[in-house]
Order: sequence, then structure tokens, then C-alpha cells
Amino acid sequence: MTERVVIVGGGIAGVSTAGALRAGGFNGDLTLVDAGEFPYDRPPLSKEFLAGTKDIKQIALQSPQWYDDQCIRLVNRTAVGALRPRDGKVELADGTLLPADRVVLATGGGAARPPIPGIDSERVHVLRSADDADRLRPALVAGARVLVVGAGLIGAEVASTAVHLGCEVTLVDPVATPLAVALGPELATWLHELHQRHGVTTAQAAVESFTDRGDAIEVRLAGATEPQVFDVVVLGVGMVPNTELAALAGLEVDRGIVVDTGQVTSNPAVLAVGDPARTRDGGVLLPRTEHWEAAQHDGARAAATILGTPAPAPAASWFWTDRHGRHVEAVGHMDAAEQTVLRGSFDDTAFSVFGLRDGLVVAAAAVDDSSAVRAARRMIDRRIAADVGRLSDPSVNLRSLLRG
Ligand SMILES: Cc1cc2nc3c(=O)[nH]c(=O)nc-3n(C[C@H](O)[C@H](O)[C@H](O)COP(=O)(O)OP(=O)(O)OC[C@H]3O[C@@H](n4cnc5c(N)ncnc54)[C@H](O)[C@@H]3O)c2cc1C
Repeated sequence: MTERVVIVGGGIAGVSTAGALRAGGFNGDLTLVDAGEFPYDRPPLSKEFLAGTKDIKQIALQSPQWYDDQCIRLVNRTAVGALRPRDGKVELADGTLLPADRVVLATGGGAARPPIPGIDSERVHVLRSADDADRLRPALVAGARVLVVGAGLIGAEVASTAVHLGCEVTLVDPVATPLAVALGPELATWLHELHQRHGVTTAQAAVESFTDRGDAIEVRLAGATEPQVFDVVVLGVGMVPNTELAALAGLEVDRGIVVDTGQVTSNPAVLAVGDPARTRDGGVLLPRTEHWEAAQHDGARAAATILGTPAPAPAASWFWTDRHGRHVEAVGHMDAAEQTVLRGSFDDTAFSVFGLRDGLVVAAAAVDDSSAVRAARRMIDRRIAADVGRLSDPSVNLRSLLRG
């Protein structure tokens, strides 16, 4: 019987696991250990928090009262140093031992720093934590020359925030159309061009080297004859899952902590959730997901496993991103689509793209149209056949299509 659960990491995955355990009736000891000041949310770090319109308290995942009400022992500013599943213990970095029948690893990840010469300069920033954002914000003054490397979700949001703070922003990525796999080429192209319409200079290029010359940083881009000079560089080139604790404890790690569909690692006493978890389903190792809602769902599944209750029904994966005042959402697997259907026009204030395969909706992406993505999600989850004519007609209420 599980009487004591220790959750390592207080991001959305860890906090969701704790909340779902209590909501599901777990009444044993529940401890949440986090290395940070208190559990906070990460998506605002590249948006309102970086822009300075929200402070750290406003991005807390839960209020201090919530942890008290839920009888969750919150241990902040403390890193877990080792798991000892065989002894039923978790060891904190200061040597304190916490008893645990089940441990949930919710350790997130760190920002990737590829081995580019000069990358250790203080002018080169990453963005993964509130501390990173606090270090970066003072450099984003009006007129500052900012290079953002990587036009994925985080890089594009930083470019947007920086240009709206008055910086001169250049955004480079070796890929011509970033996010094409997730959003489909047409919408991804439109979204990338949105940067230029808001004054961001975009270029298809990889960085070869950085040279910190004291008052600025020179950046050599592949194929360029001359280096370019910037005041600050922000890397948005991916994340590296925090798997060290898992590896030290002898758990299976393969570019992520390998878990089954109930979030259980290769040791039944240890579960893993969120960004570092990598699911093996039917013998196949799936790619990790690095999205907020996926981390939340992992927490719900881990709690169900610990409680021995049915796992929540699987749902199509979903994420959002905000840039230049536009809100983008995507659901499902656009790369699995064999046909795309545009609903509305790219000039409209709101529009969406649906991805279809064998007559079924398999994905959708929308700009300022959350309801289209909500409807698409139901169509995907319920495998409702799609009528292309009605789907593409913005005057047709999408809810009428949900009846099949
Ligand atoms: C800047 C930014 C913007 C984003 N924007 C979006 C967005 O718009 N939409 C979207 O869908 N997703 C977005 N994401 C992704 C989303 O935030 C992540 O998928 C989500 O935070 C993953 O949650 P997590 O709990 O797995 O990990 P994390 O949020 O990384 O939390 C892990 C926690 O574990 C703690 N920890 C690690 N090791 C230890 C240890 N040994 N001991 C104790 N504590 C430890 C860390 O301090 C951290 O608090 C964004 C991410 C970032 C960084």
C-alpha cells in the first residue's frame, strides 16, 4: 500500500500529480520537493514575465494556502540529490532522507547549449527559469541589438517580447519554416512572416561562433562573409531533459526517462512525469512531449497509477503559443495529415487549418480561434468523419459537425 509519496520537482507536472493524488482520495503523506523559490509556471517566462507585466508571485502555480489545504508538504529551495528506491528513501542534497513508498520524478529539463565556440559569454542567455528571465530582462532595453537563435516556440516568443520592448531583433534558424511539422507549412510560413511584419529581421542561418568583445558580441553566421554585432544573444534551441537522478538510480534512460503508459519507470516504485518522461507504448518508444498540457496529463495518469484507479482517457496533444499579440493553438499531429483544409483566410482576424487523413480530422491549428481547436479535438478524440465543404466554411458552426 502506498502511504508516502515524494514528488521531485514543482513544475506543472509535479504540482498536477500532487493535486490529482489528493483529488483522487490519496490521504497518505505527500511531499513536493522543488529546487526553486516556489512552484511557478513556465509559459509566462517568455511572455508577460519577461515583458515585466507579471511578477513571480503572479505566475505561482498555486497559492501557499492551497498546499496547506491539500496537506502537501512543500519543501522549496531544496534539490533532491539521489533516489534510493531499494531503501524506500529519497535523499535531499543536504543528506536529509525522506521515506517514500513511491517517488514521482517531475524534474523538467535545462536549456540546451550546443558546443558553439564562445557560447559561454555572459551576453549569451537561455530561458528556462525565472532566474534566467530576471538576468535577461535588463538587457532588453529599447534599441538593444538582440539576436535570438532558434525560431521554435520559446525563441519566437522571446523575439516577439523583445521587439515590443523596443529592441532591434534578429531571429535566425537553420530551418526555412520553423514549426512546419507542428502547424503545417502554410500556417507556419504565415506565422514566421508575422515576425517581419512586426519589425523582426529573420534569417535562415546557423550560428558558427560567438566572440565577446567586451562592449558587444560578434556573431558569425554560417555562409556570411562578415560577423554581425549584437548586445545580447538568446538561445532557444531546445531543452535537455533532467535524467541524472533517474540514471543514478539505475532506471532506464533513453533521451528521457523511459516510462510505460501509466508513467511507471523501469523501477515500479518510481514514476516519471512531464518534460523528461518518454513513453514506451506497445514496445515503441515515443518522442518526448515538451508541452504544458501534456505535463499536466502525465500528472493525472501518474496519480491514477498510484491510486489504482482507471487512467484518464487519452486526449489528442495540444499546445499554444503567443506572439505579436496573436494567440496560436494546435492539436493532434499535423505531420500525419495527407490533406489540409483552411477555414477562413490568412487575412482574417481568426482562422484555422485542419489536417485530415482517411476522411478523419487528425490535427488542427488556429490563430485567435480557440473554439476551432476545441471542436477539432473532439473530432480527433471521437474519430468523427469530416465533411471538407462544411469544415472549410466559416459560416458553418463547428459544433454542428461534432454530431458526425
Ligand atoms: C519559457 C518557456 C515558455 C513556454 N511556453 C509554453 C507555451 O506557450 N505553451 C506550452 O504548451 N508549453 C510551453 N512551455 C513548455 C512548458 O512550460 C513545459 O512543457 C512544462 O513547464 C513542463 O513541466 P514540467 O513540470 O515537466 O517541468 P518544469 O516546468 O521544468 O519543472 C521542473 C521542476 O523540477 C525542479 N527540479 C529539477 N531537478 C530537481 C531536483 N533534483 N530536486 C528538486 N527539484 C528539481 C525544477 O527546479 C523545476 O521547478 C514553455 C516553457 C518555457 C521554458
